[in-house]
Amino acid sequence: MKKILLLQTGGTISMDESRKLHQLDRSGWSRILDKQIPEINSLADIEVEHLFAEDSSDLNRQHWKIIAEAVEQNYADFDGFVILHGTDTMAYTASALSFCLQHLDKPVILTGSQVPLANIRSDARRNLVNAIEIATMSLCEVMICFNDHVFRGNRTTKMSIGDFDAFASPNYPPLAEIGLNIELRDTFLAGTTQSFETYPEFSDRILLLKSHPNLNTSYLRPDWGSLRAIVLEAFGSGNFPLKDQQGIWPLLKKGFDRETLIIITSQAPYDSVDLTKYESGRRALDKGAIGAGDMTVEATVTKLMYLLGRYKDNSDVRNQFQQPIAGEITV
Ligand code: ASP
Repeated sequence: MKKILLLQTGGTISMDESRKLHQLDRSGWSRILDKQIPEINSLADIEVEHLFAEDSSDLNRQHWKIIAEAVEQNYADFDGFVILHGTDTMAYTASALSFCLQHLDKPVILTGSQVPLANIRSDARRNLVNAIEIATMSLCEVMICFNDHVFRGNRTTKMSIGDFDAFASPNYPPLAEIGLNIELRDTFLAGTTQSFETYPEFSDRILLLKSHPNLNTSYLRPDWGSLRAIVLEAFGSGNFPLKDQQGIWPLLKKGFDRETLIIITSQAPYDSVDLTKYESGRRALDKGAIGAGDMTVEATVTKLMYLLGRYKDNSDVRNQFQQPIAGEITV
């Protein structure tokens, strides 16, 4: 039987049924797991490790490091890893892990639920059973398994607050669909012969800025001394306002002058940024801005945090940012 490590980090899946929405502690979670899925050990030889119990909106790079190190420390002893996680920032954690866990030759699956496992009408049972089954397969990447879909983690984004079908992968097809049978597609990352490595240090020296009509740029006063990169979430193909008070150009210009990296992503989740299409994108491109291609915002931000944590020099970050690391971008 395959050995699977279940890493508990919190989220709705591990809340109590009272709907007061408390996180269950270690023993409370084991009790609910035994009650709701008593046959879980027929799927695999499962061990549970309680890392922390947080709403995922409270997670940050320290938590990503704890999860990555838990995978690293247990890597040799298990065939696959399932991480129970809140849905709100699951796509960020999945993306971050896909960059910092390199040359994986085992599956790492994140899952959670919209309704606590403790509740009778929960989607948790299905998600957890599916995730464990996928974790017993010989797959080599970080995935999100939710509502009968398996997506590449760093291509995934949370789309729905209230629907069981909460996630989508706008620019990459699902890796597997789960129905009567589990249908694996041929979209998985190929296996690797290199040894598994982890790089769990992430930098927070970035600013994610969303463009909107009437953005009052006088409110934007970054600490230029420490800021290393700005991600501008622009409109459409990478377009942003140039005129009047809302013009972001003076801010970007300061960034270019200080060799701050300027990355342009889009508010439109489908398709790829193309900075050559309109005046603002072309101006930014001329000064050295980088388009984020078809990466999700979650992948863009966490990839930068990973690269800034790993490389001191922004020119290394610039070069690496444009290369795929874990299938996060179409080139
Ligand atoms: N607020 C919860 C979380 O992300 C939502 C969920 O798990 O669905 O932790």
